Amino acid sequence: MSTDREKLRQKAIEAALRKGHDSFVRKPTSEIAEAIRKGDRTTLSRAITLVESSRESDQKKAESIVNALLPQTGKSIRLGITGVPGVGKSTFIESFGLHCISHGHKVAVLAVDPSSSVSKGSILGDKTRMNELSRHEQAYVRPSAAGNNLGGVARKTREAMLLCEAAGYDYVIVETVGVGQSETTVRDMVDCFLLLMLSGAGDELQGIKRGVMEMADILVINKADGDNLLKAKRARAEYARALHLFPPRKSGWIPESTHCSALQQEGVDDVFDLVEKFERHHKLNGFWEENRTSQLMNWFEEALKSAVMDRFYAEEKYQIRLAEAKEKIMQQQLSPFAAVREIFR
Ligand code: GDP
Repeated sequence: MSTDREKLRQKAIEAALRKGHDSFVRKPTSEIAEAIRKGDRTTLSRAITLVESSRESDQKKAESIVNALLPQTGKSIRLGITGVPGVGKSTFIESFGLHCISHGHKVAVLAVDPSSSVSKGSILGDKTRMNELSRHEQAYVRPSAAGNNLGGVARKTREAMLLCEAAGYDYVIVETVGVGQSETTVRDMVDCFLLLMLSGAGDELQGIKRGVMEMADILVINKADGDNLLKAKRARAEYARALHLFPPRKSGWIPESTHCSALQQEGVDDVFDLVEKFERHHKLNGFWEENRTSQLMNWFEEALKSAVMDRFYAEEKYQIRLAEAKEKIMQQQLSPFAAVREIFR
């Protein structure tokens, strides 16, 4: 009996949500865009839900909203943060975000979580995170988007980032877990990439590959407190030496390292200063804009490639030729290269 009632209740909730969603989608784009510009969070959240939806009608609406807001985007500092689970990303973002707010900024936090597709559970999302920050008037914390491929999640995150910028958030933090491809994905959508590490653990132990260290603009040894402080200072010196060994960047930026205790909120101001230094350096020499432009072109090419692929696979003519080509390759009648040529004959 009670479970029946519970089911009915769930159904009623779902119906109400659906109705709310449908009436939102029917609103004129200009009205939604205006509410976002004014900083209305409910509208922002609903628009991000549209961006994340895989329904075609939702996506179309999301596209029109993002387009309407494009002139108001691009003015934030886009900061990527990575590090293995447990390094203290949530704790750090909470401290760092509050510090940004104390300097007059508005902070949005988004997450790219590559785990959700594989394990169905999220590494970043399921714990209670950033309590104080998420309740703050000047902050917006969005739980990680689910998705079954990293490319899709990345696109959603990028568009969510644009919406946050239009809503006036001038610090957008994109968090990801240091466990795979997602660092490169996030690196390609931010201005500055920050790697959190621990002292006293070898690189292998931390699961951080050399490539990830090479991507970092700023390296922060976290948990530099108590007995760990001395070790953290030593680790920082070692990393600073290692960072100097990497090939110099085109922008002339030499990656910097520092240490902090996110938990005790010590040294977080130093990280903030480094991000500002990074910003000044790149804005002065033009690399800030150059990086943004090349990111935009990359996104365009990615989108184009995936559209071309979708069209290719959707066409019957090519499906037949594809099947024939595979057969001939298997029978050793054609090389893969000749087979491709044959498909496009
Ligand atoms: P995440 O998985 O990278 O998001 O890590 P969390 O922020 O959830 O932190 C993992 C654990 O490390 C938690 O128990 C935190 O309280 C702890 N922690 C985070 N930052 C610090 C720090 O600066 N010092 C110490 N001692 N503990 C910390």
